[in-house]
Amino acid sequence: MSILVVGSVAYDTVESPFGRAERVLGGSASFFAVAASFFVPVNLVGVVGRDFGEEQMAAFRGRGIDLEGLETMDGETFHWRGKYSYDLNSRETVRTDLNVFEFFKPKIPAAYRRSEHVFLGNIDPVLQRDVLDQVDRPRLVACDTMNFWISGKPEELRKTLGRVDVLLINDAEARQLSGEWNIVKAARAIRAMGPPTLVIKKGEHGVLMFTEGSSFAAPAYPLEEVFDPTGAGDTFAGGFVGYLAGAASAGAVDDVVLRRAVIMGSTLASFCVEAFSLDRLLRLTRAEIDDRYRLFRRLTDFESL
Ligand code: AMP
Repeated sequence: MSILVVGSVAYDTVESPFGRAERVLGGSASFFAVAASFFVPVNLVGVVGRDFGEEQMAAFRGRGIDLEGLETMDGETFHWRGKYSYDLNSRETVRTDLNVFEFFKPKIPAAYRRSEHVFLGNIDPVLQRDVLDQVDRPRLVACDTMNFWISGKPEELRKTLGRVDVLLINDAEARQLSGEWNIVKAARAIRAMGPPTLVIKKGEHGVLMFTEGSSFAAPAYPLEEVFDPTGAGDTFAGGFVGYLAGAASAGAVDDVVLRRAVIMGSTLASFCVEAFSLDRLLRLTRAEIDDRYRLFRRLTDFESL
């Protein structure tokens, strides 16, 4: 089993009430890949500029992430600048310099074409479909998107959603995509667009998952120290798809496995926010993941103590 992830690899400059991190490793594909790498081998497709550091490449390699699909182009790496308010729930994009990412055309190396699991990070829905055209019938396609594409390319996004098994978006995006304020109605409308499984992320308020058979709610893990929520959504997706890919080799993916994947995604995301950039994820161990996963069970068990 392996996962193919396509998305942004970035430098982020992040300001929060707890400090500032300048030009640190970020990007949706980076967070996803590192989180998923705890479960199965990960193949990364993205683009960086000549300024991208060897230290960052080494961080990916240290997690066993395959970088054949990470293209280096003349120019500078995508640079995103964001600022968080005191409650860390609202974020303002201060500046987005697309740089080489503006010219990103995903080229899937031959060795990646048989990846059984595919995660389409938040890129142009036309490019997301282009990726699907380059791979051999994966077992599972998961996808992210954002307000920019929902309002900018609604028809293209609809076509992509028709080919997706799991859509992971936040509550504001779910409302925008469906035109429904009520989240249950929004979920029904979005599932009718294609994805049988819909995961709606609500930041510190946790996650809702809607499938054919049921709905499932999970809290975010209550932490005393939250430094930087950047990448939590992508890290959730990495833990979620990573767990599913690992479980798929052991048998069929049913609603119980999907629920466990939600808790694993939430577990990984809870580590991500404990430090800036990928700092916490890069020194995480499998034992720490398993411990917190068990704490999640205690946290949500209402039948016993
Ligand atoms: P998240 O906090 O999960 O929404 O993801 C934050 C990451 O998304 C940051 O590391 C950014 O580098 C990256 N990012 C921000 N804006 C964009 C964009 N327009 N396209 C792709 N990636 C982006």
